[in-house]
Amino acid sequence: MAESFDLVIRSAILYDGTGAPGRVANVGLRGDRIASLSAPAEARSSAVVNAKGLALAPGFIDVHTHDDFAVIARPEMDFKILGGVTTCVVGNCGMGVAPWRAGMLWALAIHPQAKLPEWQGYAGYLAHLEREPPSTNVAVLMGHGTLRLSTMGNAQRAPTLSELVQMKDIVHEGLDAGAFGLSTGLVYEPGRYAATDEIVALATEMTGTRALYATHMRDEGLGLITSVREAIEVGRRAGVAVQISHHKASGRKAWGLVRQSLALIEQAQGEGLDVHADQYPYTAGSTSLAAVLQHGAFSTEGGQQGISGREDMEPSEVVIATASRHPKWEGRSVAELMTLLSKPAREVAEYVAAASPGVTVVLHTMCEDDVKAVMHHPSTMIGSDGIPALPGKPHPRLWGTFARVLGRYARDLRLLTLEDAVWRMTGLPARTFGLRDRGLIREGAFADLVVFDPARILDLGTYENPNVSPAGIYHVFVNGTQVVRDGQHTGARPGRPLRRAADT
Ligand SMILES: [Zn+2]
Repeated sequence: MAESFDLVIRSAILYDGTGAPGRVANVGLRGDRIASLSAPAEARSSAVVNAKGLALAPGFIDVHTHDDFAVIARPEMDFKILGGVTTCVVGNCGMGVAPWRAGMLWALAIHPQAKLPEWQGYAGYLAHLEREPPSTNVAVLMGHGTLRLSTMGNAQRAPTLSELVQMKDIVHEGLDAGAFGLSTGLVYEPGRYAATDEIVALATEMTGTRALYATHMRDEGLGLITSVREAIEVGRRAGVAVQISHHKASGRKAWGLVRQSLALIEQAQGEGLDVHADQYPYTAGSTSLAAVLQHGAFSTEGGQQGISGREDMEPSEVVIATASRHPKWEGRSVAELMTLLSKPAREVAEYVAAASPGVTVVLHTMCEDDVKAVMHHPSTMIGSDGIPALPGKPHPRLWGTFARVLGRYARDLRLLTLEDAVWRMTGLPARTFGLRDRGLIREGAFADLVVFDPARILDLGTYENPNVSPAGIYHVFVNGTQVVRDGQHTGARPGRPLRRAADT
């Protein structure tokens, strides 16, 4: 009797996530797992997807998201799943979901209208996702900024011994709950007040667990190299893997520095340290306007604490992304608003920030050569850093990151082979973050899958019109359940909270 499957994806060009070149295969699914990579043509199956001429890859793992609350407020996660993302790593840039009260402060900045339930610690958050699952899987990082805020408010000093113990307790709770690591946001309040020793002390609690340290570094401008050294130092002293978030050189004066930062990563890897980075494939970044102001944008006095890359921004390079109370400002640059409001740049920015709390901006501060150099480097995986501040005009990376790497950078510009690009968004992140049985297409792995047309895949969102799903992505499966069919969301929400396994 022929083997039976719940679903067979037939005649696909299989990119299995290891970096191996594509090969034609029939993939059989049973339950939530991949059961066979050589399902016979006569296999019995209740459903068949004919994927002749199409690529089949592991579902994309977005290692750098801010979807912590979107997975609750907008659980269909259309902006990710329609782009082929099946797992979101949340809790980046020092912003975490626990302790709850501190987490809510930034939740409300992104989702001012959302009604969010209360949860107890990381365990409570993950349990909530189990009860009310989103369409994607969720892996959580602990946010250092949130746990610091919760412990010592916005104090601009080192923690006392007892405060440090309290922070360590939160880290332990998160690790026990299954968090995959600790993130910092060393440009943001209050993370910027943490010295290296404080971060090492907290990261040391993870030694031996395989949880990693992810960091939005202190300075992505002229101080990039010092910042990368600090990140590596934390990894070395704490004995943990390091993930450099959204690797870039920001600000004209810093362009080209990524050659040195990439060399530093190589050097650290050569010493046996586990150091990687992630990247979104655009020459513009995005953050809160408040953070930009904090670092002295448009002011004659320059930035605080030597933060560079932001104080030399031009008003035309800073564009309002989402301003919930003043949508008419969205899509306009500070330069345009200077004319409209008849004020100098700094006053415009302060006025906008005060009038519409939580306002986010798109910053056109990078160069294409650096984007390519970082993407080409084998230490780089893909992470969108998308801010799910919908509606408005969020940075188009929220929807388009993975399709843009595959379509523009791999296919059109030939910067990467297709199999290498797939590896950077599947197998490599799964291995680095310890996402067991994910990121690879092999028998026994979870059936997180994406079927796309390698000739057509492309991001379609623009800065003017960002909320658009990419072209060429047809079918997406999460834990064996189809969430996207013929480019349309099925309404299914089979995502799971992932938990770090103690032995991986
Ligand atoms: Zn960040």
